[in-house]
Amino acid sequence: MELLTADLRLGKVEDITPEFLQSRGFTALLLDVDNTLVSRATGELSSSVLAWVKAMKAAGIACCLLSNNWHRTTCNYAKVLDIPIVYKAMKPLPVAYVRALAKIGAHRASTVAVGDHAFTDILGARLCVMPCIQVEPLSTTDLWYTKIFRLLEKKLVDQ
Ligand SMILES: [Mg+2]
Repeated sequence: MELLTADLRLGKVEDITPEFLQSRGFTALLLDVDNTLVSRATGELSSSVLAWVKAMKAAGIACCLLSNNWHRTTCNYAKVLDIPIVYKAMKPLPVAYVRALAKIGAHRASTVAVGDHAFTDILGARLCVMPCIQVEPLSTTDLWYTKIFRLLEKKLVDQ
């Protein structure tokens, strides 16, 4: 199940450091929103995530949000974080990844896609031949179909 397996699995986005990225030549991040940066249970951006994005930007790592969420309110997170967003992304389809890369002038080989979901974030990155990191979801609150995919993911990936 290589298409569903990330290059690296970490607990949370804050485990990714600018030094880690720079030492491997990565200059940009495409970041999933729901349950990666923002808990679906609370809808809140934690001060820790805010500080992390700020540190990434300060280190010269270009960031873009890449969300499957169809609600315009998702764009508020981009405003608060002061980074671009592509929403209604329809991950794992590659189209939005290409749009997000263009938005921040990044190249896929030097960009890491980060997300909590194998069937959207990771599969999409794989289809785009992009490096990817999977993090643990920030909450167990998920859309009903995401819950089904999580069960499948457990069966196919977490063996
Ligand atoms: Mg997510």
